[in-house]
Amino acid sequence: MIRIYKCPSCGGVLHYRPGTDEMICPNCKNTMAISAVDQRSADGKTTGLSGKELFDNAGNGAENMVCPACGGPLKTDEHTAATFCPYCKSPALIDSRFAGQYRPSRVLPFQFDKKEAQNKFKTWKGTGLLTPGKFKSAATMDKVQGVYVPYWLYSYTGNVALQGEGLNTRVTRHGDDEIIETDHYDVNRVVQEAFENVPADASEKFPDENMHVLEPFDFTKLVNFTMPYMAGFTADTYDYTAADLNEKVRSLVEQEMISDARGTITEYETVNLTGSQVNYTDQRAEYVFLPIWTLVFEYMGKKYPLYMNGETGEIDGVVPYSKLKALVIFGIAFVVFFLIALLLGRVFS
Ligand SMILES: [Zn+2]
Ligand SMILES: [Zn+2]
Repeated sequence: MIRIYKCPSCGGVLHYRPGTDEMICPNCKNTMAISAVDQRSADGKTTGLSGKELFDNAGNGAENMVCPACGGPLKTDEHTAATFCPYCKSPALIDSRFAGQYRPSRVLPFQFDKKEAQNKFKTWKGTGLLTPGKFKSAATMDKVQGVYVPYWLYSYTGNVALQGEGLNTRVTRHGDDEIIETDHYDVNRVVQEAFENVPADASEKFPDENMHVLEPFDFTKLVNFTMPYMAGFTADTYDYTAADLNEKVRSLVEQEMISDARGTITEYETVNLTGSQVNYTDQRAEYVFLPIWTLVFEYMGKKYPLYMNGETGEIDGVVPYSKLKALVIFGIAFVVFFLIALLLGRVFS
């Protein structure tokens, strides 16, 4: 089933309204609480559910899906979960991609709208004097797109056992002589530590290095997942399962746990560790969607993707510099320098 949410007042298509728990109709500006929208869907009201999901029997798993609003074919691949109809621009959600193993437990909703995202990109500190003028154009800014990125949030509770030797020195006096003696102690320490909500992006399309710069997210803003939050944004299902990424995330967490446990041994001048083990009493992974605004800036035939945290506004990416602007600035600087030199020459001669 392809799902769209119809406006009960005018028949338009409702979008999620960032920073709120409501949907809004761009046609008539009617707003509706998400809980009310969900209730209508549960009651089987036609305003909640519509459309169909057609399966192509070509045998390659490709699916032909049509827009419930206008009947036009949707452009989807095997990961598409939330998209827009390319013809009537209605937000279209694919039910089966939010079901079963693909159903997220929670979502961090977008906290500000596209207009604000566009302003943040325009005034970003990563742009400057040499940024191509085209960057701030309406055509470029129109490409700003909100994407819910699939993430796994890992939580671990572990007992860290450390073994080693602690050394303390002692100074004793025998007449005029100072004697330094070293005492050796066996160190056996067990420290429990818990890590909550360590994020790992589960989509191939989003480079890890950019996503790390956008952290942290405020996970207290996570709400229980429900589909209306997706309307008006794009979303893909995860590429990596919780098990795929677990080892990588856990080994980073484990290093921190051991280092933290090591930090609790303060009663010796020197500590030589001989062993460490972590025994996990709890390990969990939660599937969530986190909000990212994207802008792919095309310049001189090259693409420059930019990413913005949809909760904090933090941006990462690189904007190219305009060679023409650089030349003009260099040219002006050269002329000014030349004139000053000329002037000084006259004064002194
Ligand atoms: Zn309406
Ligand atoms: Zn359509």
